[in-house]
Amino acid sequence: MAVDETVQNPLLKTGKFPAFDQVKAEHVVPGIRNLFQELGKDLEELEENADASWDSLVVPLERITDRLGRAWGTVSHLKSVKDTEELRKAVEEVQPEQVAFGLRLSQSKPLYEAFCKIRDEKWSELNEAQRRIVETEIRDATLGGVGLEGDAKKRFNEIQQELSKLSTDFSNNVLDSTKAWKKLIKDQSEIKGLPPSALGLLSQQAAREGHEGATPENGPWLITLDAPSYIPIMQYCENRSLREEIYKAYITRASEGSSDNTPLIERILELRLEKAKILGYQNFAEMSMARKMATLESAEKLLGELREASYDAAVKDLQEVKDLARAKGAPEGVDFKHWDGLFWAEKLREERFQFSEEELRPYFSLPRVLDGLFGLVEKIFDVQVSAADGLAPIWDKDVRFFCIKDKTGNPVSYFYLDPYSRPAEKRGGAWMDEVVGRSKVFADNGEAARLPIAHMVCNQTPPVGEDPSLMTFREVETLFHEFGHALQHMLTRVDEGFVSGIRGVEWDAVELPSQFMENWCYHRNTLMGMAKHYKTGETLSEDLYQKLLAARTFRAGTMTLRQLHFACTDLELHARFVPGKGKSVFDVEREVAKSTTVMPPLPEDRFLCGFAHIFAGGYSAGYYSYKWAEVLSADAFSAFEDAGLDDDQAVVQTGQRFRDTVLAMGGSRPPLEVFVDFRGREPSTEALLRHNGLISAAN
Ligand code: ZN
Repeated sequence: MAVDETVQNPLLKTGKFPAFDQVKAEHVVPGIRNLFQELGKDLEELEENADASWDSLVVPLERITDRLGRAWGTVSHLKSVKDTEELRKAVEEVQPEQVAFGLRLSQSKPLYEAFCKIRDEKWSELNEAQRRIVETEIRDATLGGVGLEGDAKKRFNEIQQELSKLSTDFSNNVLDSTKAWKKLIKDQSEIKGLPPSALGLLSQQAAREGHEGATPENGPWLITLDAPSYIPIMQYCENRSLREEIYKAYITRASEGSSDNTPLIERILELRLEKAKILGYQNFAEMSMARKMATLESAEKLLGELREASYDAAVKDLQEVKDLARAKGAPEGVDFKHWDGLFWAEKLREERFQFSEEELRPYFSLPRVLDGLFGLVEKIFDVQVSAADGLAPIWDKDVRFFCIKDKTGNPVSYFYLDPYSRPAEKRGGAWMDEVVGRSKVFADNGEAARLPIAHMVCNQTPPVGEDPSLMTFREVETLFHEFGHALQHMLTRVDEGFVSGIRGVEWDAVELPSQFMENWCYHRNTLMGMAKHYKTGETLSEDLYQKLLAARTFRAGTMTLRQLHFACTDLELHARFVPGKGKSVFDVEREVAKSTTVMPPLPEDRFLCGFAHIFAGGYSAGYYSYKWAEVLSADAFSAFEDAGLDDDQAVVQTGQRFRDTVLAMGGSRPPLEVFVDFRGREPSTEALLRHNGLISAAN
């Protein structure tokens, strides 16, 4: 029986595309268990036969990690976009086995010794990509505890198990507490000021939750805490007490009752510190930096420099919105509070630039934006992007599938796009992930390599009624951002699977192509090419375009400082904080806030309880990466500015160079060298500060 079950288990199917439409919670435990049994045998065999040759060591190892990555990737993807109670339980059951297998792999002495032997004896026979693989395998084995023995090893492995569980629990708590908060509004006067798009979305949410017949005009309207619902309330709702209520619900997510993340945070930090010490590091940040482009010192130096450049600007930003609130009749004696910030900032923007973010939405419908994005990529990277819906199984009816081809029409990669927010089952935020990577080991007959496949997941405003998804400009930037990641994965020319695409790229360099792509949202030809009214087809007016450009640096000091606050808090917690010594993590955040906020967090602020980036994602001691890589991405984009953004030929030439270096080489070469290959020199912060309007007039 067991054998039959496995044969039919869709999780283990080896077709070109995962069976996302068939994999159910009940397949996870038997499928993953069976897989580990087989992979365990493969690993034993490899350990017995491994010698210092590429074909007997690296190729079979890649076969093992690839099968695991593919099956586990399918499970964790479905958990992120289609979470259910049953799936949660199944993942919880097999996760310890997944962690144990990962530890077995990274702590395998025969493999480690074989890699060291290759380094010592075969170095001259290896190409550059292969050398990077050998170096990173040795480094990762060391950080994975290969050198540990006895009690230290046992304790290290226990820590890894517990950390893995804590990370999943943290993420579940955020999803649960976000999902649990809802507020039904029946009286329109309570949500006065909301634009039609928000009314449409909120009434659609109400209808979906059983209030049939809900309409944008007459309600009822259901407010939730996911971004497409939360942000319009904070920006437009005139009802100050409602804004306060929602703001406070948002900043206290996952901070009480059964979804309280507070004890998990303390425990995670405690275990990370212990783990770092077992490996001989002073603290977790130092250990984390062993795999990065920056050092703790250089990361903190950059954050300090950016703080200098943005703090006074942020103080001025706050004064301006306070002045406006007062001038517009905010009552005397009422303090300006956190829930007034976005509301008056939007009013100030409307007054200063004479347009509202809402006015832009009809010009950014998802189909037009995709046309614009693909058109840009086709032009500068010399590829074609075409719809391939139906070719691969999907997990939700709104998911799209696409194929990227080279100029001769041969496919080079594929990607899924899951665009809309689904608060009941999908976690928040936007991300790109790999499905499989490019690799010659898995090449079909006649192909040089298996083609890479990527996930693009966003949480943008869903279509309302008959209209397509009408995006905010920020949602457009997010889509471009994620596509930048996907391009690095999909346009790689590296055939060595361990360092192709985004694999092997240092964490603080991965945001280079993504943030680079965001710049194109302001590029005239790109923007005007896609900003067409979804009903009339009319292009965005020149006037509105100029206003959008002028508004680009609006409150840049505030935005920069906000990112710095997150980055500095993250490093403080991972480099200097010692749990259990009297101070709480919230005390630490408040101390950091003294120099990184102009309006200190409220005493009840529990933002850290929802900070999944560093407690459930890969950004621990790494949130600074956004700013670190933004220096690289802004400087990379400035190469296009130098060449002339209106000069099509120059743009295409520079684009080719970007494709040949940053996008093609991925992790096969150190990121600083790749940057220099493209830019002809080392990175400078000048372009980033200039784009943000944060360089003083004197220089
Ligand atoms: Zn990103």
